[in-house]
Amino acid sequence: MHNKKRLIYGLGIGLLLIIAYFVFLYLQPDPQRISYNEFLQAVDEEKIQRVYLQERDMIKGLYKDGTEFITDNPRREGFKEELLRKNIEVDEKSREARLMDAGSFMLTILIFGGIFYFFSNKSIKQAQSGMGKLSSIAAGPEGKAGVTFDDVAGIDEVKDSIRDVIDFIKNPEKYARYGARLPRGIILYGPPGTGKTLIAKAVAGEAGVPFYAVSGSDFVQVYVGVGAGRIRDLFRKARESGKSVIFIDEIDALGKKRDAGFEGGNDERDQTLNALLAEMSGFKDSEGIVVIGATNRLDVLDPALLRPGRFDRHIEVGLPDVKERYEILKLQCRGKPLADDVDLYRVAQQTVYFSGAKLENLINEAAILAAKRNSGSIEAGDIDRAFYIVIAGLEKKDRSAINDFDRELTAYHEAGHALITRLVAPENRVSRVTIIPSTKGAGGFSLSIPPDRMYYKKRDMENSIKIALAGRAAEEIIYGEDSVTTGASNDLERATGILMDMITRFGMGEKSGLLSYKALFNNGIRHVEDELIREARDVIHSYYTEVKKILMQNKPVLEAVATALLERETLKEHELDDIINQCKERLRGTA
Ligand code: ADP
Ligand code: ZN
Repeated sequence: MHNKKRLIYGLGIGLLLIIAYFVFLYLQPDPQRISYNEFLQAVDEEKIQRVYLQERDMIKGLYKDGTEFITDNPRREGFKEELLRKNIEVDEKSREARLMDAGSFMLTILIFGGIFYFFSNKSIKQAQSGMGKLSSIAAGPEGKAGVTFDDVAGIDEVKDSIRDVIDFIKNPEKYARYGARLPRGIILYGPPGTGKTLIAKAVAGEAGVPFYAVSGSDFVQVYVGVGAGRIRDLFRKARESGKSVIFIDEIDALGKKRDAGFEGGNDERDQTLNALLAEMSGFKDSEGIVVIGATNRLDVLDPALLRPGRFDRHIEVGLPDVKERYEILKLQCRGKPLADDVDLYRVAQQTVYFSGAKLENLINEAAILAAKRNSGSIEAGDIDRAFYIVIAGLEKKDRSAINDFDRELTAYHEAGHALITRLVAPENRVSRVTIIPSTKGAGGFSLSIPPDRMYYKKRDMENSIKIALAGRAAEEIIYGEDSVTTGASNDLERATGILMDMITRFGMGEKSGLLSYKALFNNGIRHVEDELIREARDVIHSYYTEVKKILMQNKPVLEAVATALLERETLKEHELDDIINQCKERLRGTA
């Protein structure tokens, strides 16, 4: 890193010098123009020091007093000899031309050198990206930089279950004295963006020791033996700094379960893994080094990694619930100017399934929007808009590009989702329905948020499937079976996913009963797929029929919601309810 900087500075300075040089040439005083006769006379009077014979129709020369002149070139045979005889120096090239040449030469070298450096550097980097990271570790571990538990909101259980580790790093002797053995390795597992890296950093910060971070993917796809070497390197560096926290992100990349007969084993990965295990068992209990690994899934890890004495503490870091989201939001808004109309608890309620990273992203986008408006504070509207940016990509600026038919179809599709939510699962919240398209391609969406809960009932899952199917059903009711569009593919994916979970994992299927398909599979029973698909297809079909029936019965309401969507593009929950209620009242009145 250092060398690179120096090189760039060097190149920059070189370039500046060359530019300065050309400017200097340009600013040179123009030589005096004299006639050929004057020139000959000067030659006779021995006033001339030197003559440059470069150009075809021009001679340049230097008087003995240092001034320059130009005159016509006689282009005469023997002219040079004649001058030489009169003790005048003759140059085939002018001084400028020489300097010019030197300048261009340097410039060329510089450009080619730069290009060469750029490319060679790139390919070297590609070949040893991991190495680069390791050497940057050597330059200075992150750490005492001061991330503490105060920077981690929510997830109190995680913090509690890791607190003793901090004490252990600080006072390893204390634990050694009592013969207590604390984990040397900790696995944090959970969805991306839930703060696993942040916690590991906070552990180092709280204990006041250096933090060494690498990623498991740095160790794969290199030549055999290199990965293992890097592991030893990493641990050597950590040991040199005494107590420390070593963080290995994506640890599954080097410690994945070996599927027997699938890959036949991967020598390189095994060597790397073995090196890691060997280093860890080499720790003395009094050393105060802790290795924290992070992965999205615990069940893909090689059991060898999880044995006692290795990574034997496993801590789940899950998605935050509504209270934790509130805490995280408050933390992210710390030091940012919030307008009075912002209700962070409401934002927390609207962000089910958001990870901490997504919440951070949300607040950041809102801050960017507020800064663009430059009105002094982040307002509720900024957060609203940021919400759609975060979950669906940027709102499309040019809405005229979407033709009216698509808009109408989207309106009915979304109205279908929203209406079914209201009718079959009124406890779910529809924070907002919109037909504003997003760059991610979705036509628009309505969000139905189930209440935060630890367990989901069978009914909740059924309702989620029905809600997902409702978009397609609405399309079919309004435009006929042959006109349904491709817009429902995400919905179908979701519906199928939930249904398969119900049948294969939770014993909620009618025909399959309480069998766990995973257990069947693990016991070598694999000929259940046909049956599975048949059951799933039947179930989803019956749900679809049911949803269609409900929508048919409420077709005027569906139309009213779709019309309102076309008009206003976005409906808030209470607006949606108003429309549904008004419409129902009107129907009752006419009946
Ligand atoms: P992971 O390692 O689980 O993928 P990170 O630790 O990289 O997630 O989290 C990314 C960012 O998200 C953090 O830098 C932080 O800004 C934010 N974040 C995630 N979880 C939390 C949390 N519990 N409290 C505060 N910020 C969080
Ligand atoms: Zn849909």
